[in-house]
Amino acid sequence: ALRGEQISNIGSQDMNDEVWFKLARRVNELAAMPDVAGIVITHGTDTIEETGYFLNLVVKSKKPVVLTAAMRPSTALSADGPLNFFNAVAVAANKNSAGRGVLVVVNDWIHGASSLTKTSTTAVQTFLSPVWGLIGTVAYGEIEFFRGPVGRNTTDSEFSLDGVAALPRVDIIMAHENMDGALIDAAVAAGAKGLVIAGVGNGNMTKAALDALAAQAKKGVVCVRASRVATGQVGRNVEVDDDKLGLVASLGLNPQKSRVLLRLALTKTTDLKQIQRYFDEY
Ligand code: ASP
Repeated sequence: ALRGEQISNIGSQDMNDEVWFKLARRVNELAAMPDVAGIVITHGTDTIEETGYFLNLVVKSKKPVVLTAAMRPSTALSADGPLNFFNAVAVAANKNSAGRGVLVVVNDWIHGASSLTKTSTTAVQTFLSPVWGLIGTVAYGEIEFFRGPVGRNTTDSEFSLDGVAALPRVDIIMAHENMDGALIDAAVAAGAKGLVIAGVGNGNMTKAALDALAAQAKKGVVCVRASRVATGQVGRNVEVDDDKLGLVASLGLNPQKSRVLLRLALTKTTDLKQIQRYFDEY
């Protein structure tokens, strides 16, 4: 049997920590109920990759938790929502979906929450898992799984919202030609305890920006180098000397997912070795 409830209008203009906390707590409550086999969450496409990854880290259940979305409104020609919802329910009800972490089902594909990203502002085929590939496919409810999740998740995650009242501020700053340190310093002045740089290429940036970042890192702000490039990994100590400058490399996580992980990481520690380990394992 299907039953439904509304947490909030989960569209990009309403997405905030209050919604995240409500959603995560409710998913944990529902997942603990013996008569619940799986959970489907309908979500806007803009921030589904962040919510999915957040839940992947703080839900404490092996039961399937599946997010789905639609690129076209229900009033549009060839609306994609109904089939996406049908497929998401099929995946959530399937025993083989358990233990694969939080999943996102859109346009016949089953993505892991850590790997998918939105790649087109308008196309129905917007979601890709560019670095790690798909977890499976689903065609009119017919499911084929290829692999398990990438990265620790759910019951195997060290993160939890128990005893956490709020998440620390972490800002994302995009690198570009002629970048200086002004926004880096302004973010810290605004209260950021961590920074994610959406760097150029392999997490790189101008010398001026790097100097500002290293100075903030020295003062205890945890600084992660990610990339504004859509696919590929950001390697530690490859183009930038992370050891010397006290920085963290995002490895396979894009900037928006790096921000989610860093916020949760900062609820536990500011130790750079430990935070780099989180980026390695999650
Ligand atoms: N802007 C919408 C969002 O909140 C788009 C959508 O619903 O897919 O994500």
